[in-house]
Amino acid sequence: MSIDITGVRKTYGDFVALDDINLTIPKGQLTALLGPSGGGKSTLLRVIAGLETADTGTVTIEGTDATKLPPQKRNVGFVFQHYAVFKHMTVAKNVAFGMEIRKKPKAEIVARVDELLRLVHLSQFSHRLPSQLSGGQRQRMALARALAVEPTVLLLDEPFGALDAKVRKELRDWLRRLHDEVHVTTVFVTHDQEEAMEVADEIVVINEGRVEQVGTPDQLYDEPANDFVMGFLGETTRLNGALVRPHDIHISLSPQLAGASEGVVSRVLRVGFEVRITVLTDDGEEVGVILTRTHARQLGVEEGVRVWVTPVSGATTVPTMAANAG
Ligand code: ADP
Repeated sequence: MSIDITGVRKTYGDFVALDDINLTIPKGQLTALLGPSGGGKSTLLRVIAGLETADTGTVTIEGTDATKLPPQKRNVGFVFQHYAVFKHMTVAKNVAFGMEIRKKPKAEIVARVDELLRLVHLSQFSHRLPSQLSGGQRQRMALARALAVEPTVLLLDEPFGALDAKVRKELRDWLRRLHDEVHVTTVFVTHDQEEAMEVADEIVVINEGRVEQVGTPDQLYDEPANDFVMGFLGETTRLNGALVRPHDIHISLSPQLAGASEGVVSRVLRVGFEVRITVLTDDGEEVGVILTRTHARQLGVEEGVRVWVTPVSGATTVPTMAANAG
């Protein structure tokens, strides 16, 4: 195992940013720390990096107790949302910097910079200044720079957060492919569930300073531990006091399945290939149902018609907090 975090707690005054975090991050994988803003993701990343000191608990990196080590002794590479580049140095010089201060042999530096620039597809830009690159290219340069010193662990804090949606998407694919080539243990922070699901081997869901669940994207989506995880990883609606995914609801114009709730279609909205239907049940619940356009047309679902709704067999359902409390 690459990173072991045990009993980590971090407070700012009387605010608890991290509350007893116990977590093992596997070697060689891409792990996402996912959760809403303010949940503690960056704080945890900074504790791993050594940029913050936890009040209690330990951080072990590759078997070495790193709890009291300064950042530069942890052999971690970082990339932050707002890249700190050396503006007056070329791309190649920026990438070489870490190796130069470590007094690596010149020939080795040249070879490694070449290799890294090829890896991040910036070979043709090696002599440019950072100001002559696009935002996406600058983030790729920042990744090359972080990888230059061969870190045991690569830590990325919302690395694509400042970029526009299209570039973000390209960089996601690119990060996935880069990781398939270099296999360095990578931990990245994101509040974007789609980004985490697309890129990560494993996702750690963090909320209010706690780990809600750890698992593969499929595990979290199909078997969420609680209503928070279910709601954070995809759309949900409420049916009979439980959360269900709107596309996991069977809807029919006659009572076909036992236990189905009866109601009236109150709204039909077409969005691209989907049709989003709202059903007001006789029990007063508003249930969202998503169908494909073809399916909706076949069924003949229209506003005002009487329908029966129930989760499809095998649907993921989670009791809601309110239902738990009751
Ligand atoms: P996330 O990365 O999930 O958005 P953070 O780890 O950045 O969350 O922050 C978690 C909480 O800790 C937030 O409420 C934030 O305001 C608070 N926090 C973070 N750093 C500090 C600090 N240096 N001083 C006081 N509060 C902080």
